[in-house]
Amino acid sequence: MSRKDFDFIIIGGSTAGNVVAGWLAQSPNASVLIIEARKGNPRGETMITTPARAFETRGSEYDWAYKTTFIDRPDYTRVEKPNTRGKILGGSSCLNYYTWIPGSAATLTIGRSLVSVTYHDDEGLYSKDLAKVCKGGPLHVAHADLIPEMAPFRDALTQAWTSKGEPVSEDIYSGEMHGLTHCINSIYKGLRSSSYVFVEGKPNITILADTHSKKIIIEDGVASGVAVFEQNGEELIFCAKKEVIVSSGVFESPKLLMLSGLGSEKELVAHGIKTLVKSEHVGQNLLDHPIFPYVFQVLEGLGLEEHLLRAGPSNDGAPTFSDAFQWHIPTPPAGAWLTVIVDLLRPISQNGTVKLNSADPLVQPNININFFSNDLDIIAMRQGVRFVDDILRTGEGFKDIIGDDYPRPMPRNSDEAMNKMILERSQTGFHPCGTTRL
Ligand SMILES: Cc1cc2nc3c(=O)[nH]c(=O)nc-3n(C[C@H](O)[C@H](O)[C@H](O)COP(=O)(O)OP(=O)(O)OC[C@H]3O[C@@H](n4cnc5c(N)ncnc54)[C@H](O)[C@@H]3O)c2cc1C
Repeated sequence: MSRKDFDFIIIGGSTAGNVVAGWLAQSPNASVLIIEARKGNPRGETMITTPARAFETRGSEYDWAYKTTFIDRPDYTRVEKPNTRGKILGGSSCLNYYTWIPGSAATLTIGRSLVSVTYHDDEGLYSKDLAKVCKGGPLHVAHADLIPEMAPFRDALTQAWTSKGEPVSEDIYSGEMHGLTHCINSIYKGLRSSSYVFVEGKPNITILADTHSKKIIIEDGVASGVAVFEQNGEELIFCAKKEVIVSSGVFESPKLLMLSGLGSEKELVAHGIKTLVKSEHVGQNLLDHPIFPYVFQVLEGLGLEEHLLRAGPSNDGAPTFSDAFQWHIPTPPAGAWLTVIVDLLRPISQNGTVKLNSADPLVQPNININFFSNDLDIIAMRQGVRFVDDILRTGEGFKDIIGDDYPRPMPRNSDEAMNKMILERSQTGFHPCGTTRL
């Protein structure tokens, strides 16, 4: 076992951890160590850098692929795998689905945080004002390309939306998120933008890849270092002269805190771990937002895959019909389709948990997202479906191009049957948070 010293140790080369590392390293005398469980060179991985391959990353070697309890109600339980989280330098920013939305003014102070990002509008299609939302940073974002053949679809959607009195807004980035919009994505010039850009080319950042944290070393009440395993099983210890920063994501961070003796005494004792800091919050308050996907047939010629993908055997069927969103809907053999996702952004079921399955650092934690533990969230989701239905099925323009539900009719006339379908089909919006409150 050997020891090495750094000023700062960042446990998890994550979306957030890399940004923090990049900031710390602006001070040329500061030495920063990043510990990452998997590869440290995402730029060489085309599955990561190619936007169209994003859905392939699910269940791949770059996915922690957590077994997760999604619903845990007295009348219905559902446990599934994989629940995706990124396992490579850049973390989930190497596997996510690109939508770049900073948040509303009520939840985020627009300003300082956005200087890490630069917006591009190379074709000059949008207001020049949008540039002020984010500029000067190393992470590049841009609006999604507008496929010309899909213009009739876009026009019909906009017509239906506005025919119901709903607003259109191209500036949901200055604080007020309300209205139909064209999305900005963390993609620029055909490549994924991930948080590893913050640590590239910085000589005072050391990246230790393929290394798994074991526990935080706490001496006299202060986090002074970390014990890790290398891939060959060798254990190493690193000491932090200034700070240890835990940024291993929403599931691994609370696990590491608990393995290090921070958490609920009852939970720690059950796994033979000595309690150093009692905190009932660690691993509690897990909150994610459930999404409910459902599918309509649309007129031939208006399906995205007809225009997005070249002909050929690997693209037969409906290849953009990804199971990342439609876990519970079979891929149709042919035809033109539209997937709607109703996303419950502010659920009131906020009592998910991350607990230990074992004191072994390599064993996955026990995750219970606990969607729909409060019935009001089911009602909200149902109302979301009715809102979208109203626009798509009766709105001007769109009502002429929309077809039947797929694969079976939405039971619109029965609240009870809709509740059942919502429970059976809803899944994660991939934005869990809240587990590391101390
Ligand atoms: C499939 C998917 C789609 C998404 N789509 C979007 C989207 O469109 N828009 C959006 O804004 N957000 C999206 N998100 C959410 C967003 O990507 C995440 O919220 C964010 O990246 C999480 O960042 P983080 O810093 O908390 O952790 P992560 O980026 O998840 O990083 C955790 C890091 O810690 C490392 N690590 C974990 N345990 C250990 C250990 N024991 N030892 C060493 N290293 C360890 C991991 O390997 C990983 O690199 C999506 C997420 C997923 C998974």
